Amino acid sequence: MAKAKVAVARGDGIGPEIMEATLNILDAAGANIEIHNVKIGEEVYLQGHITGIEPHTWDILRETEAFLKAPITTPQGGGFKSLNVTIRGAFSLFANVRPCVSYSPIIQTKHPDMDVVIVRENEEDLYAGIEYQHTPEVCEALKIISRSGCERIIRYAFEYAVANHRKKVTCFTKDNILKLSDGLFHRTYEEIAKEYPQVENEHWIIDIGAAKLADTPEKFDVIVMPNLYGDILSDIAAQIAGSVGLAGSANIGSNHAMFEAIHGSAPRRAGQNVANPSGIILAAIMMLNHINQGETASIIQNAWLKTLEDGIHTYDIFKEETSTKKVGTKEFGDAVIARLGQKPEILSPAQPQKPFTLKPAKNPSPSSKVLVGVDIYVKWDGDVSQLRQQMEAAAGDDFNMSLITNRGAKLWPDTMPETYCVDHWRCRFTGANGTNHQKIVQLQSRLAEAGLDFVQTMHLHEYNGQKQYSLSEF
Ligand code: NAD
Repeated sequence: MAKAKVAVARGDGIGPEIMEATLNILDAAGANIEIHNVKIGEEVYLQGHITGIEPHTWDILRETEAFLKAPITTPQGGGFKSLNVTIRGAFSLFANVRPCVSYSPIIQTKHPDMDVVIVRENEEDLYAGIEYQHTPEVCEALKIISRSGCERIIRYAFEYAVANHRKKVTCFTKDNILKLSDGLFHRTYEEIAKEYPQVENEHWIIDIGAAKLADTPEKFDVIVMPNLYGDILSDIAAQIAGSVGLAGSANIGSNHAMFEAIHGSAPRRAGQNVANPSGIILAAIMMLNHINQGETASIIQNAWLKTLEDGIHTYDIFKEETSTKKVGTKEFGDAVIARLGQKPEILSPAQPQKPFTLKPAKNPSPSSKVLVGVDIYVKWDGDVSQLRQQMEAAAGDDFNMSLITNRGAKLWPDTMPETYCVDHWRCRFTGANGTNHQKIVQLQSRLAEAGLDFVQTMHLHEYNGQKQYSLSEF
């Protein structure tokens, strides 16, 4: 079989040492890969490449199937772009997969039976980083959620569950408040879950779901969620598993994938042969599973589990009571190599992942789209009744004023005098029988002539006769 082409970056700080130990293990286990070395990180940033990547590296990343990346050091000071966010965006690495596993009784943890995989959407949500300052007081970030983005990540979570012999996929959203954006994620989850009757499914509102995860993580299996929730909860889950130094993560796209440890470059430990290479070893195991070398992946994983079980530990996990030998980075890697072919006796042995491919996301079903009005946001320092008078005058014959809110709280009709207001007001204009772009532009023109400082315009649509904008009834 042809060797899989893999890009490898040795990174900064402890990166080169932990990567060396990992590549030795891959070699000894007979991983069928062809390595293409790339340079990324601190030195490249300081040469003036703001993403930490040299232009020719993109070609290598494009031509390889997977990217095994050691941690890098982000230089101090501003002006640098996150390398991870850049690569995820450029190659549409839509799924972030982070197993959070306890290795009790070898590694101490409050949650000995925890074995959770967080599948986090990786491209959309507030993480798109689209932000504006609208007025001296108010900034806004856009939460972008797409139907195909939801479908892809949710189907990935179910396929991952099937391939990895897992029983349940839980979904976390906040759709009691975010009825359209998180609502789309939840609805898509309910729809996709029906395609996998062999996998249990459940949904939790993120706040209570997160509390349950922190309290009884052993009740969860695979959890799928939008980007920002996943960002926060995957760190919490890794921490409560007691294994931040023992966790790898994968960023998966349709044609490319990137694998790394979850820890950073630990510059203070660099060059001393003390760092624990386990995070990047586990990332390499995820990579082998992804490139359809599941047998080799499980051989390495079992040897790694046996090494932990035998008490061969680096300084960060060494405990007098449970460890037998404190070793350095290279010696830990050599101990794993010496155990290739062995299985753990106390910890659960690994099983090879079944290969899977994702069906393409369906096109959304056709729907009728009607433009019914517009929310215009204005910077305004006066009170609501003066604002209403000015807005009603501008509405003309084409529109009715139906709502004024401030930070989402309704100020008209029916106001509460106690509501605190800032300088950013939403004024809703609706047409009696819908509206059109021309009428909206004319309305904006009348607002400009009246000297009103409108800072943002949002169109109001009905899809299939349903209002698809927040109603602000309170
Ligand atoms: P860090 O994860 O590098 O270190 C935190 C602590 O954990 C330190 O005490 C360190 O000694 C210890 N540690 C981390 N990995 C270890 C290992 N494999 N073995 C033993 N001990 C280990 O986090 P930090 O100090 O906040 O960040 C250092 C640098 O890493 C920063 O420049 C940061 O930007 C970068 N970073 C990179 C990535 C990445 O490349 N994916 C991720 C996080 C941080």
